[in-house]
Amino acid sequence: MDEFQLIHRFFSPLSPRKRGSVRLGVGDDGAVLSPPPGCDLVMATDTVLAGVHFPKDCPPRSIAHRALAVNLSDLAAMAADPLWYTLALSLPSASARWLSAFSKGLELLSGEAGIALVGGDTVCGPLAVTITVVGSVPRGRAVTRRGGRVGDWICVTGPLGRAAAGLSAWQRGQRRGAALVPFLYPHPALEWIPLLRDFAHSALDVSDGLIQDLCHLLEPRSLGAEIDLECLDCEPRDLDGLVQALSGGDDYVLCFTVSPRRWEPLVRRARARHLDCRIIGRIVPGSGIRYRGALADRVRHARIRGYDHFQRPLPRRPHA
Ligand code: ADP
Ligand code: MG
Repeated sequence: MDEFQLIHRFFSPLSPRKRGSVRLGVGDDGAVLSPPPGCDLVMATDTVLAGVHFPKDCPPRSIAHRALAVNLSDLAAMAADPLWYTLALSLPSASARWLSAFSKGLELLSGEAGIALVGGDTVCGPLAVTITVVGSVPRGRAVTRRGGRVGDWICVTGPLGRAAAGLSAWQRGQRRGAALVPFLYPHPALEWIPLLRDFAHSALDVSDGLIQDLCHLLEPRSLGAEIDLECLDCEPRDLDGLVQALSGGDDYVLCFTVSPRRWEPLVRRARARHLDCRIIGRIVPGSGIRYRGALADRVRHARIRGYDHFQRPLPRRPHA
């Protein structure tokens, strides 16, 4: 199978020839796309690398799912509806079996998210996947990291630390079971897009650990936060569980801030859509994170960090 047969067999079928906003998809020097009228476009890109973002023996369907999910999660955090994506793939060899499972993973999640593949690049090299996504949001309505205010409640859209627990299970040799799902198939919180647009002052997705990511909302604006450890949904409910929830990466839940005045209407809208979120703290004047709750002192001493590619890695990465 040469490069062009590979693209034709596994990726062209995922690209609409001419449908809706896609005037020309995979197959030409570039895609021709029509943005929805009255909208801003939001663009994001993320690379996932074998041995860093996923274990080298990870199932190909999971690799595809992760590569697209982490990008969709960025769109969700900006409150942008998914439109199009490109796929740059570096592969050590062209195995039909591997590519078939990989493209199936893309097909399933892209179908669910309503996002169309419109182009890409395929090269022979170490296993790495770069996806670029484009989404749309009514003009001026994108939710950013910059809108948080003192007094805002800090909320999350799901449990934390489950992906880190799944990865630990994988590293201990477990290859089956529900505990692996949050790590192998992270869920991008697309269902929250309309609610963020209407209620959130600021938002981001939790990819590198709650506390590290939350600092991106706070530090540029010289704000602080108070986190109530009793409000965290984590397992086990001990120091290890809390540290995993506060520092574990790859959960891709959304963390957003909302005015307490708007909490009741937000919850009503969320419940009507069978969605659940919880308040875990609030924005306070000053800087840094303060913890409240029974284990607050011990958590403070645990010196929570997240993942940084250029610092000494934490045990969870790289994935050999
Ligand atoms: P070029 O020579 O212009 O770089 P390529 O030969 O790399 O084009 O790609 C041919 C077509 O296939 C282009 O439309 C490109 O967008 C598409 N393509 C290449 N690789 C992929 C991929 N992995 N997924 C989707 N489309 C791809
Ligand atoms: Mg090319």
